Amino acid sequence: MKVLVINAGSSSLKYQIIDMDNEAVLAKGLCERIGIDGSKLTHKVPGKDDYVVETPMPSHKEAVSLVMEALLDADHGVLKSLDELSAIGHRVLHGGIEYTDSCLVTPEVKDVIRANFDLGPLHNPANLMGIEACEAAIPGKPNVAVFDTAFGMSMKPEAYMYAIPMEYYDKYKIRRYGFHGTSHKFVSGETIKFGQLPEGQRKVIVCHLGNGSSISASIDGKCVDTSMGLTPLEGLMMGTRSGDVDPAVVQFICNHDNKTVDEVLNILNKKSGVLGLSGLSSDFRDVKKAAGEGNERAAMASNAFIYRVAKTIGSYVAAMNGVDAIAFTAGIGENDVEYRGWICEYLTYLGIEIDKEANKKRGQNIMISTPDSKVKVFVIPTNEELAIARDTKEIVEG
Ligand code: ADP
Repeated sequence: MKVLVINAGSSSLKYQIIDMDNEAVLAKGLCERIGIDGSKLTHKVPGKDDYVVETPMPSHKEAVSLVMEALLDADHGVLKSLDELSAIGHRVLHGGIEYTDSCLVTPEVKDVIRANFDLGPLHNPANLMGIEACEAAIPGKPNVAVFDTAFGMSMKPEAYMYAIPMEYYDKYKIRRYGFHGTSHKFVSGETIKFGQLPEGQRKVIVCHLGNGSSISASIDGKCVDTSMGLTPLEGLMMGTRSGDVDPAVVQFICNHDNKTVDEVLNILNKKSGVLGLSGLSSDFRDVKKAAGEGNERAAMASNAFIYRVAKTIGSYVAAMNGVDAIAFTAGIGENDVEYRGWICEYLTYLGIEIDKEANKKRGQNIMISTPDSKVKVFVIPTNEELAIARDTKEIVEG
């Protein structure tokens, strides 16, 4: 069974085609600059040179048609006919409170994606365009929506409600939703499998640490809490996002610098985090390097990130009344041996011991704690495309 996975952004469309018999990626690619000058498709097939097509893509519809041509191409294709495709799985950012799991796309599902445009203003419209482009280009094939917010739907009200007047939940469904849900679900599931965690010992904390970062707490793969909120701005300090701040900071800057709320929110989203504190870069490699060379602001930014990760892990141990495993994933979590080590130095009170040799490895499923460690610590590379393809297969096969 072959599944096409689509992740449509406002001006881009990423895709992978996965053979679900062995979960191998047959081809993947990216359409860039959709709707603007210089549109380009880059199609990659393992063991072959990249296939690049530069041609106008006024909308996602043309982008999907080009992807189909690439998949069927005599030299670079991986399909003889579109009949070989069983289904299409779509990453959709926001399912509101309606969807607690992935589901087959129907007119009602599209209505809900549309109804949530204001909760996911950049992503939901693009995600819907991706779905409609596939419905037009590959008629008759099932499309599945995999919502990034679905994982967070198992939180209890005490975890997801903001302590503001109830009318705002009633009117606008303002609550914590959580993002990176597909990654958290995948990594917590893989942690249970790879770590062979027995029933009753499946309290897992996943640290998805990348340019965007979030942490989740889950029991038996079901989310108990997660650090992002109504939007991805809440929680940890990130590459360019501030994470938690006292909301009065917004009012203070507006009043003193004569800015609008939107302008300050833009600062909190795009100019804050390690970029804002270090004044150097949003890339943790640059900040770490500068800190190592004696740049004090970079060191402070780096330490603030580590501190917040450790503090959030601690709060989730409390939320679950314990923890059996902690997993690191995403750009920093999978690759940065030093950040992992620094975060774990805060966690010795949990009886965590890190195997320094094991922690030198990167980019593969590994246990980095010692056999005596009271809590197991893992590196589990995330794979959102595979997670989407697995959900799609499950739903299509019923
Ligand atoms: P995004 O949220 O954009 O998906 P990523 O998960 O790709 O972000 O993570 C980007 C961050 O991961 C960067 O700050 C970068 O410093 C770090 N990172 C990525 N690759 C490596 C690597 N090989 N070694 C160390 N850090 C890395």
